[in-house]
Amino acid sequence: MSAPHLFRLPKDADLLTALETICLERDINHASIALIGALTRASLGFYLQDERRYVSHDVDKPLEILSGIGNVSLKEGRPFVHLHLSLSDDTGAALGGHAMPGCRVFAAEAAIQPAEGPNRHRVYDEATGLFLWA
Ligand code: ZN
Repeated sequence: MSAPHLFRLPKDADLLTALETICLERDINHASIALIGALTRASLGFYLQDERRYVSHDVDKPLEILSGIGNVSLKEGRPFVHLHLSLSDDTGAALGGHAMPGCRVFAAEAAIQPAEGPNRHRVYDEATGLFLWA
């Protein structure tokens, strides 16, 4: 197994965009991701299973990233990052969800571990309304 790629993400970057840019530049199409750090704001999604759509809520304050865990696979031929976040605020209260565009990095350290085996491709899944691995 190859070693994980370790990165510090730039301050003020959009979290998902920064991760997808790294994957594109390094030709990483199939991997797991783990990250920690802090955000200046977050946008967290929740999938309404009955309505088959995401709702998101914005949290406009500094947050610690207790745990960011996710994966990289191909969607429409490009690396796509699927990431979930556990965060805490200045009281220690935790919140979390599916990372949406709009999570702004204060500081973050990410480990991207390329996976073995064939690339995973996301395709539309009728049963859930989501783009899942084929
Ligand atoms: Zn998700």
